[in-house]
Amino acid sequence: MVLRVLGSAAGGGFPQWNCACVNCGGMRKGLIAASPRTQESVCLSADDGDWFLINASPEVRAQIESFDALHPRQSRSTPIQAIFLTNGDLDHCLGLLSLRENHRLVLYATESVRRGFTEGNVLYRTLQRFAEQITWRTLKLDVEEPVLLVDGRPSRLTVTAVAVPGKLPIHLEGLVSSGEADVNVGFRFRQSTNGKVLAYFSAVGRITPSVLNALEGADCVMLDGTFWSSDELSVPGFLEKSAEDLAHCPVGGPEGSLSMLSKIAALRRVFIHINNTNPMLREDSPERKLVEAAGWEVAWDGMEIRL
Ligand SMILES: [Zn+2]
Repeated sequence: MVLRVLGSAAGGGFPQWNCACVNCGGMRKGLIAASPRTQESVCLSADDGDWFLINASPEVRAQIESFDALHPRQSRSTPIQAIFLTNGDLDHCLGLLSLRENHRLVLYATESVRRGFTEGNVLYRTLQRFAEQITWRTLKLDVEEPVLLVDGRPSRLTVTAVAVPGKLPIHLEGLVSSGEADVNVGFRFRQSTNGKVLAYFSAVGRITPSVLNALEGADCVMLDGTFWSSDELSVPGFLEKSAEDLAHCPVGGPEGSLSMLSKIAALRRVFIHINNTNPMLREDSPERKLVEAAGWEVAWDGMEIRL
């Protein structure tokens, strides 16, 4: 399996257009040791020329252009066989509307995520220009199923969607039921030819036994690295909400994911979906040193992992 990080930042990217925090301002002025990052998206392949996207970020067009393997090889075409959605947040779905150029798309999502994107969304009509422009393949929780190519043939990958504590996208709050377990999922991808497993959990509100179970035995874990601390947005006065209110378990602290997952044995352990306020973005910060000392990595745009 080959993974390529197309975007490693949380919503807003890094630097964020309306932010002059220590990180964003420092990045623009060249005062900190860090790299700019686009919003979270990863592509993966069983190394056979077929590619799958996880999430379609608002920067999807530039992200596809950034990686040769995703370029069309003839006429009008794409090696992208399908797109997986972890939840309905705009930073994961908005890019779908940018892929509207009369091309068939296969979308893997849970029923709640599909409904959240399609129902009452007049912009979705741009993806309904012809019959079968979009094929939804509905993911059931905890069922391992073959990942199919755009033409329906099996790929060398399987996927299992696992419910993760999360929340509704902001634009759906108050409109639809917030109690569905499948509004936010992580994925376990397994390559059938060599058994290698990627556990992809980029939005984790709480580390539950089922999340732990899904990370167990993975060769690579990609985990929610949005915030370092609970009060990262409230202390500077950006937003009166904690990391947990926003359904992101912080990385640092005694209850943080770094400490809670100290026993995870995956060869590669990578934080992704990193908010621009997170101090671990700075390569010389004490927080970054803690992460690296624990054997974890901080994803960057262009990072490639082979399993
Ligand atoms: Zn910022």
